[in-house]
Amino acid sequence: MSDLRLFTAPSRYLQGPGAVDELGRLLKDRYSVAAVIIDSALAGRLAPRILRSLEGESVRTHLIAWTGEVTRFAIDGLAEQLHPYSPNVVIAAGGGKTLDTGKGVSVALGVDMVTVPTIASNDGPTSRTIAEYDEHHRLISTPQMPANPAVVVVDTDLIAQAPADFLLSGIGDALAKRFEAAGCYRAAGNTPNGTRPLDLPSAIADACYRTILTDTEVALTGLGSTPASPQLERVIEAVVLMSGLAFENGGLSLAHALTRGLMRVEGAKMRPHGIQVAYGLLIQLAHEGDEESLAQVGEFFKRVSLPRGLGDLGTEASPSVLEAIAEAALSAPHCLNTVPVPTRSSLVAAMEAIERDLDDGGHTWM
Ligand SMILES: [Zn+2]
Repeated sequence: MSDLRLFTAPSRYLQGPGAVDELGRLLKDRYSVAAVIIDSALAGRLAPRILRSLEGESVRTHLIAWTGEVTRFAIDGLAEQLHPYSPNVVIAAGGGKTLDTGKGVSVALGVDMVTVPTIASNDGPTSRTIAEYDEHHRLISTPQMPANPAVVVVDTDLIAQAPADFLLSGIGDALAKRFEAAGCYRAAGNTPNGTRPLDLPSAIADACYRTILTDTEVALTGLGSTPASPQLERVIEAVVLMSGLAFENGGLSLAHALTRGLMRVEGAKMRPHGIQVAYGLLIQLAHEGDEESLAQVGEFFKRVSLPRGLGDLGTEASPSVLEAIAEAALSAPHCLNTVPVPTRSSLVAAMEAIERDLDDGGHTWM
């Protein structure tokens, strides 16, 4: 496969105010029976809208309100519960756990998947990846669906009403993609699709980065009111769509590899994925010696309260912690998608450099 380069994506992506009410019209030509898994906390206000939209277009619907961890046990249990209805599509509405559980159920039932994210905390809604955990919230595997979610429905009225921390996490996750795609390209690495990247993903990652730098601050001030401002619409597109297309087709690098280490240390392990990635990006830029980007990103992080050191993640930057983070990061295959090739000591040196750079005002997450 060395000269073949693969690009994957959802076949339809709908974004805007009230998008969830379009589910029925969007799906009726392709699906006749839908299994809906919805976050229990949202079921009261969202389930009636989803049911009305689907059944109004004669899509038979079986809805389960669910909450919990993304475990093999939960996925198998839901699949067993839904199997007798013979659904030809699984729709998951909620945050990351609900979407990943729904992805697992769609794979178990061998049917298409539709994601309806109600927060924009990462790019999971468009991607093939499922983050599977054990009962103690330890990540145990990240299996890939055979195809991306067929349809992604992003209702910006819902996302505009979610707490700012979710969107900040999504912004951290998305911002890194430009540098990760560039790192993967330079190091001749493979994307999560298992091939070298085409040129398009880098263009998407660049646009994603520009949008976030330009529009984030206005977008954040508009949270809580609907309809979403044009800036918030653009940031949501960057966080959910551009970020997902960029990483799956352009490749991951050091910023995401660092999350392997952060998931293992006190404090940082409790922080959302995108906040961990934001810190990882600082380390990647320091490691690559890209002072100009580091200054630009560091300044942005300061303005929007993204982490600028381990203290901001609630983690003490002791030598043993830095060693543990570096060692776990090196276990990720995409850790090598950067130049120069990272080693345990070069990663520790990059983390030390970031701690030294931190000025007194940086600890925003404690
Ligand atoms: Zn990510």
